[in-house]
Amino acid sequence: MSAKQRSIAVVGGGFGGVGAAAMLRREGYENVTVFEKGERIGGVWQHNTYPGAACDIPSHLYEYSFAPNSWSRRFSPGPEIRAYVEGVARRFGVFDKVRTGTEVTSARWVEERARWVLETSAGPHEADVLVTACGQLSVPKAPPISGLDSFEGPAFHTAEWRHDVDLVGKRVAVIGTGCSAIQVVPAIQPEVAQLDVYQRSPGWTLPKGDYAYSRLIRSVFRRLPALRRLDRASVYAFQELAAAAFTRHRWLLPLFRILGMRQIKSAIPDSELRRKVTPTYEFGCKRIMLTDDWYPTLTRDNVELVAEGIDRVTPNGIRDAAGVERPTDAIVLATGFASHDFVAPMEIAGSGGRTLSEAWAEVARAYLGLSVPGFPNMFLLYGPNTNGGSGSVVNTLECGIGHLLAALREMDASGTDRIEVRRDAAEGFDRELRAALAKTVWQSGCSNWYVDENGNDPNNWPWVWSAYRRRTERLVPGAYELGTSLTVPSPALG
Ligand code: NAP
Repeated sequence: MSAKQRSIAVVGGGFGGVGAAAMLRREGYENVTVFEKGERIGGVWQHNTYPGAACDIPSHLYEYSFAPNSWSRRFSPGPEIRAYVEGVARRFGVFDKVRTGTEVTSARWVEERARWVLETSAGPHEADVLVTACGQLSVPKAPPISGLDSFEGPAFHTAEWRHDVDLVGKRVAVIGTGCSAIQVVPAIQPEVAQLDVYQRSPGWTLPKGDYAYSRLIRSVFRRLPALRRLDRASVYAFQELAAAAFTRHRWLLPLFRILGMRQIKSAIPDSELRRKVTPTYEFGCKRIMLTDDWYPTLTRDNVELVAEGIDRVTPNGIRDAAGVERPTDAIVLATGFASHDFVAPMEIAGSGGRTLSEAWAEVARAYLGLSVPGFPNMFLLYGPNTNGGSGSVVNTLECGIGHLLAALREMDASGTDRIEVRRDAAEGFDRELRAALAKTVWQSGCSNWYVDENGNDPNNWPWVWSAYRRRTERLVPGAYELGTSLTVPSPALG
């Protein structure tokens, strides 16, 4: 079969799924079906509609390289990003390929036919190649705080924002001080009567430097694409510097820490509040938060930062560990996501019926974050160890899709219909990865959403992002095995 006729099933209709379908079409692959369980495409940008939701990577890097956009701001707001993803889907003929409102519940590899059989909420579907694009931050995490169920008012997660709840003039509690909280708190502060922000541990920040692009600037970027590319390259270079500092060159971290300290000092005159917001752990251990308005908002009269810890939620408020109960009308859970499960709750069974959950019993791992031995013709986008404390996920996704295309080309060139990463290649990569992860700042002892309770980090890429591009753009000879079935010996790539 020609690779161009291969059927490809993509699970997830966010940046990854839309990007995959668009890039596959650009290469001539028409037999692509994207399954999206939500009613619209856009992934996290459809779910995260909380006030203040915006990009925290400059938009000229947070876009597909093949679909540059004329953004309104340096860091564009959520609705504009949603419209962009939909626009790309329309422009590249992806909309027709997407089945919205359709959840894939399981996928099973059938060896005899070298095909994947998917069970979906709309019935079964078969495909030659399975691509998962489920994101790492799509399942909201409710905190195990005692009494939360007893609260009598509305309590909801940032990723499940209740637009029917009017917060104007209300007493509101926000639990968490991560990337979502630092966006939502400044956005709702002017309209609420009282805002109590419950902090478990503070995060390091850097100035965001956000601003609206004037009509002139937008027109200059449109007319001079080289200037846009230069801006994109400069953002990329800064992100690479941060990636180097978080991984191999931690001697750079004090430079960033000075900027973070300076931001706190210039925004907060009160020494006690300064002390509360100043992290005691290494810069970069949690994700760095870019903000211009977080600290100024904490100094407003109607805002209190509660750093004593939460004892319990009561029917009408929250009692802190010092025994002080603050009445509240609504609780916002800015408490992050279940980030270690990757494709869950979908169940994937590979060769011999072995499931991905079984293969990942200790920790999720994949060769370049993309392929797993025993799971032929399957590629994971934004899979294990492809996140980072810096860098643009969109860029990472494009690298992964580039790898998928390289694999399809190899299958076509060799006239085979089965490709699987070799176990020794995957194990060799994994050893290299774990050794590099051990040296990163994320392992330096703070609580973050990367490192699990056993000290494993299944999320982050421990090198710079140009290394990810270099390693994914073509298949390393011998890393994959090509063939038509398990019983037929297959030549290694060469
Ligand atoms: P997060 O960074 O994991 O922050 C969760 C917050 O909730 C932390 O402050 C955490 O405290 C706190 N928390 C968790 N469980 C708690 C509990 N039981 N009691 C009290 N506090 C608790 O989650 P997030 O803010 O949703 O961000 C997650 C990731 O999403 C970010 O790192 C970023 O990659 C992405 N994101 C991106 C954007 C964007 O602009 N593009 C915006 C938002 C999010 P500890 O720190 O002590 O654990």
